[in-house]
Order: sequence, then C-alpha cells, then structure tokens
Amino acid sequence: MPLFELGSRKPTTRDIALTVKAGGAEALTGAELRADEARYQEVSCKSALNPVKGMPFFNWTLNAYRGCTHGCHYCFARRYHAQFEMNAGDEFASVILVKVNIVEVLARELDRPSWQREKVAVGTATDPYQPIEGHYKLTRRSFEAFARARTPVSLVTKGPMVVRDRDVLLDVTRAAGCTVYMSVPTVDEDAWRTLEPGTAHPLQRLRAVRELTDAGINAGVLMAPIVPGFTSSRSKIERTIKAIADHGSRFVGCNVMHLQGGTRTHFMNFISREFPAMLPRFEKLYARKFAPATYRKEAQAMVRVLQDRYGLTRREDADSSAAAEPAGPDQAAEQVGFAWD
Ligand code: SF4
Repeated sequence: MPLFELGSRKPTTRDIALTVKAGGAEALTGAELRADEARYQEVSCKSALNPVKGMPFFNWTLNAYRGCTHGCHYCFARRYHAQFEMNAGDEFASVILVKVNIVEVLARELDRPSWQREKVAVGTATDPYQPIEGHYKLTRRSFEAFARARTPVSLVTKGPMVVRDRDVLLDVTRAAGCTVYMSVPTVDEDAWRTLEPGTAHPLQRLRAVRELTDAGINAGVLMAPIVPGFTSSRSKIERTIKAIADHGSRFVGCNVMHLQGGTRTHFMNFISREFPAMLPRFEKLYARKFAPATYRKEAQAMVRVLQDRYGLTRREDADSSAAAEPAGPDQAAEQVGFAWD
C-alpha cells in the first residue's frame, strides 16, 4: 500500500512493512532525509508498552524508535528490522522509524486502573538516546509519563544525551526507581571506531555516568558486548574496567557477543569484507548463537578478579543483553568476559 493513500494519518509499522515489501525502502516517500544522511519515517503506534515473558527483571519494554544510527556492527537488534521488511545491514542504521504518538499512547496505558506499575525497560530494540532524540524528545517525554505514573524504569543507552534528562530521571527515581545502564563495551579507540561507527567516544559516555551519579541517579556500565578479537584481551578489559571505576560507576556488568539471524549475516559480512583473516576464527567460535560455554567461563574469573581489583560492584542482575533482548536459557552465564588473544 503506497503511503500516499493514507491521507493525513501517519502510517503504522504494518503499513511500512507492506510498502517496503512492495517497493523496497526507497518507496518510503514520506521519510525525511536529515543532515546525518539517515532517513526518518514518522509512524503511529497503537500500543506503546510491549509485554515481555521470561525476563527476570522487567515485564514491559518501550521503544520509541526502530533502527539505530549508532550502527554497531554487533547489534543484536539489527535482525528486528526484518519485521519491517528491511535488511539488518545498512537499512538498520539509515532508515529509522519514529513513533511520533508514543507518548500519548503510553500515558493512556499507564492511566489504566489495571496498570500494576511493573518495571519497564526502555531501549530494548534500539537506542532511546540516538541523535534524533534531540529533535523529537520522545524518550524524555516518556520518562515524564513514567514519573507521573510512579512506574519503575531501567534504561540502556550509548548516548551521552541522557544527561540532558537528569531532572526527569531524578523524578522517576524518587517516584518509583530508575536505573541507567550506559553501554561501554571498551575504551579501546581502535575497537570503538571499528565496531560502533555512529556512537559517542567511550570516555564521553563514562563522563555521562559520572554526571548521572553525581545527580543522584543509579547509573552504571555494561561492557556489552565483549567482542572476541577486538575487545577481549586482558589488557583491554583491564583498561576498560579501570576507566569505569575512575568515573564513579555504581556497578558493572558484561556479556559476550552472540550472533543470530540478520545480525549474524551482517557481522560475518563485515568481518569478511574488512578483516578477512579473522573470518575462520569467528566461524569456528560462532558455530552456534553463543560462543562455547567453556570459552566464556574460562574468562569469567579474569573479569571478576579485575572488577574486585578496582572495587566495582558486580551487577549480576544487570539487564543482561545491554538492550535487554529476551534471554536464552544460558544467558545468565553470559555475565562473563573472555580473551581471544
Ligand atoms: S547496540 Fe545499541 S547503540 Fe548500537 S546500534 Fe544497537 S541499539 Fe544502537
């Protein structure tokens, strides 16, 4: 269904999927090309909160944006773009859906007498503080709604823009509880530039953690994910943990990269194109979704020793997927680190 038949109403994500299926992402004629060279398609949503089963730390998720211009090559959410008939490669990072009515829908849902004030995880499918949030402020306004509804929230981001919202995060903290997980997989500059091309510098993210904790917000760091061969050496992990400790993080958690679906295809293509010599090793290590348990466990002790050395609280119950993907059966064991080299 072409978008021009929708009149003045914003298309739904289903409209988008049908349009892209018929004509590719180029058929999204209403998508606005902005200065960052990504295209932004406004959509309307019928529901804001998504129920989640099987996660121990939250019951609901909220995602105002779909797709993420941070464009991390390992991002597990890449494969979710297939829901909109788009690919997990370039289109994940360059065609962003914006749920422009999500705050109004959320407010109605939080207003229902049946709402139990269960914990909501924000940023489970894309980053709620990717740059376009500076324009739409959907994340900020969602937190205002959570504070009013006395609903506890956790949030995962790589965006230092989160400090803009210290005031509302503090309101949620006082009203119901709020935890901010800043994702900083590594402070190694080469690895950062290679793996997370659209993100802020890791130290800028850590400074944001400092600002949040100084403001009284429960904020810490997820080294998520640790990527074999790029960020997994002992020296890089130790430098990262030391930097996390130096910036006043209240806790640290970590997980190891896993690869599935479109994310796997994208990542292996990226390695094949940019680092062909590493490809056989990745293919062996990731014969399945997760790296072998023995491999992960071997390094678990190393990470724990380093956390203890630098006085960092372990966050065993950190929302383990950084952006909180539903956990696999052995995901609890993912709270580890390991060495490749
Ligand atoms: S890992 Fe997070 S910041 Fe990176 S592309 Fe995915 S959603 Fe965006």
